[in-house]
Amino acid sequence: MLNFSYQNPTRIVFGAGQIAQLSQLIPAGARVLLTYGGGSIHHNGVYQQVTSALKQHLVVEFGGIEPNPSYETLSKAVALVQQEKLDFILAVGGGSVVDGSKYIAAAALLELDGWAILQNKVRVRQALPLGCVLTLPATGSESNPHAVITKKATQEKLSFSHPSVYPQFAVLDPTVTYSLPAKQIANGAVDAFVHVMEQYMTYPVNAAVQDAFAESLLRILIDVGPKALAQPENYDVRANLMWSATMALNGLIGVGVPQDWATHALGHQITALYGLDHAQTLAVVLPALLQHQREAKKQKLLQFAENVWGLKHQDPERQIDEAITHTRLFFERMGVPTRLTDYGLPASAATELAAKVRAAGMQQLGEHGQIDYAASEAIFRAAV
Ligand code: NAP
Ligand code: FE
Repeated sequence: MLNFSYQNPTRIVFGAGQIAQLSQLIPAGARVLLTYGGGSIHHNGVYQQVTSALKQHLVVEFGGIEPNPSYETLSKAVALVQQEKLDFILAVGGGSVVDGSKYIAAAALLELDGWAILQNKVRVRQALPLGCVLTLPATGSESNPHAVITKKATQEKLSFSHPSVYPQFAVLDPTVTYSLPAKQIANGAVDAFVHVMEQYMTYPVNAAVQDAFAESLLRILIDVGPKALAQPENYDVRANLMWSATMALNGLIGVGVPQDWATHALGHQITALYGLDHAQTLAVVLPALLQHQREAKKQKLLQFAENVWGLKHQDPERQIDEAITHTRLFFERMGVPTRLTDYGLPASAATELAAKVRAAGMQQLGEHGQIDYAASEAIFRAAV
């Protein structure tokens, strides 16, 4: 196991009816910016629950944060925070609203334009405190320090991380996920699955605890994902889906182990160029990447085949092939296609994507930094 230092400061408040706790979770006297997305919270009762919990607080609203939150939209919220001297951000929504709110929290305290954070030109030092009510289990953003922001003008999708943007609390009420369209449940389960894979499918460092946590999260996602689609109001299914998505990316399983993240890095380029959903890009890239990296990841692929899929063959190559096929079929069973052409993209998309990776200077991806431009292009070609 590698050395590590771990702290996760986010308080998780879990269960049906817990949105009412907001009245206690947000300091009395806070000047709150309530951020949300395109309006789903107006239709499923979440807005009502949030505003009635915050009756005693000063609240200014900012709606309209889009999926893959944009710098352009978020800049308006930053201006609002500065103008109204707001000092607490409450994000109510999925990963896009939470990520966007992290950006608002950090950018509001900068003298410069906040995009500099995404360009790595300025280091975040502090952020306004934020909390969230999560409505979509997927990203883990509710208890991690990461955010992914898109600049529409330049078609860039970039991320930043800083401890100051960990939410102070995350309210996780599984019943608020009942209103999610099947596609979002599917996307969420796939995203969480790939988050686990990015921290697990590397090379062994004898981290038995992390491996076993990761394998159990993968097995649970494989089990509850399809059930969440078939039985949308099964509380226990939704509760286990929600908690496993949080656990997948709250840092715990990633301590003391090598991490990959190439699937995400390549996937972000697909979203930036062609607008596919985040999870769709992951379902496209991961099977192709596992095939391409099968030598470097051999030991873990065999372990994954056996411990997650229950596959054991005399021929190790066959065992690996079947594990990759099972993974692809799981994504497809969730209703998320796994090839670029399934999304109506031409074969030439692989060349354009490879050029984008080059333009972004992304040339040492993966746990060994071994995925260079040529490897990225080969992976995109295999994903056609
Ligand atoms: P999302 O983009 O936040 O939301 C997708 C859609 O689901 C929105 O249209 C939203 O509608 C709707 N929705 C959310 N909750 C709902 C509910 N309870 N009922 C009905 N509809 C609901 O999806 P996401 O997958 O959570 O976030 C994706 C973003 O997170 C991407 O930009 C991705 O790059 C990023 N990401 C971040 C991390 C991280 O660690 N921070 C990790 C992975 C991915 P409304 O807008 O109307 O609410
Ligand atoms: Fe993700």
